[in-house]
Amino acid sequence: MEDLRDLGVPYPVARFIYNSTACKNIYFKINGEVIGPRTSTVGLPQGSILSLISYSVYTRKLIPLIPNDCGSKSESDNSAGCAYICPSANFSRSWKIFSHASIFSIEAIAILYTLDYILQSSFSKSVIFTDSLSVLQSVASPCPNTIKSSLIFLIRNRLAVLAKFNLTVKLEWIPGHKGISGNERADAAAKPAATNANLLNIPLPHSDFYHSAVKDLNDSCHAWILAMGNSKGVHYTQCFYKQRKKPWFASFNARREWIVSLCRMRSNHYALNASLACKNITDSASCPCDPTVEEDLNHVLWNCPR
Ligand SMILES: [Zn+2]
Repeated sequence: MEDLRDLGVPYPVARFIYNSTACKNIYFKINGEVIGPRTSTVGLPQGSILSLISYSVYTRKLIPLIPNDCGSKSESDNSAGCAYICPSANFSRSWKIFSHASIFSIEAIAILYTLDYILQSSFSKSVIFTDSLSVLQSVASPCPNTIKSSLIFLIRNRLAVLAKFNLTVKLEWIPGHKGISGNERADAAAKPAATNANLLNIPLPHSDFYHSAVKDLNDSCHAWILAMGNSKGVHYTQCFYKQRKKPWFASFNARREWIVSLCRMRSNHYALNASLACKNITDSASCPCDPTVEEDLNHVLWNCPR
């Protein structure tokens, strides 16, 4: 409630949001028997518009807690810039965006701040040209459930406010990197902003952080495999191992049992003497057909007469 009050949300709206989150009575129906009510104080139905608003409210103080040197660390290749230009007013603005932002978010933020500029300047008729078709499609989407970014709801909100003040705004798509002068100027303004401009303090959608979390997991897994490869599976690690984003069976349309069997065969974990003897389950690794030959998969498939 305090956060909502700080944001200037009218009291009846804040009270409605509070009641929606804090005073829910939940009933369970199991085999025809109704159990409850149980009062819940947390959570919102997934996909609810309120859950996106709540997320934005909860995280709006998060970014200032992230030290600025995170941004400077990423300056070499990760940081991004965004910019808009207004040729008729000979005006442009640009910002550095937090390095985790997706291209979608960067384009959405540029549109959002352009709408703010139009609102402040009270231009009666404006056209925003953007090369981000995906953002335009999200803004125009008739189905709120398909919208994954809270920034799109902020853009819709700004458009509604502009309409209320009779300020006409059109959003138009143009192809990027095709030599269109306004688009090229905006690109040229955005590039130096990635390193020189001030870091924009705006909460990003949580989905923007998935990529770095997956990359961190991938890198730590790669480092662990290399470390293990010094003492275990040395030959495999030196001759065959490659860092991959997806496992080797990602493109296989096969049942899980088959994948498991193939993994066991590839790693020499099967119920043949060569594998069982390593675990002291059998006394000898040799095949009953010939005491001088190991009973491994290669022998059983290609040489064993049994
Ligand atoms: Zn044999």
